Amino acid sequence: MKIIVNKDKCPQNHPCPSVRVCPVDAIIQEGYKAPIIDYDKCIQCKKCITYCPMGAFEIEQ
Ligand code: SF4
Repeated sequence: MKIIVNKDKCPQNHPCPSVRVCPVDAIIQEGYKAPIIDYDKCIQCKKCITYCPMGAFEIEQ
């Protein structure tokens, strides 16, 4: 299981609110682009899924 960012759901026009809720700093956002996840750090806690109002973080089975 891994967490992915669905770029079709991310409007890419604001600071990603999930960046600051990630407990291990695994979410990287360059400018207002869709964030990317550092899989070496991600512990699959799913907080980013809860916090993103656009539902852009998804679970890939
Ligand atoms: S699932 Fe948790 S650890 Fe992984 S990117 Fe999202 S908030 Fe960070």
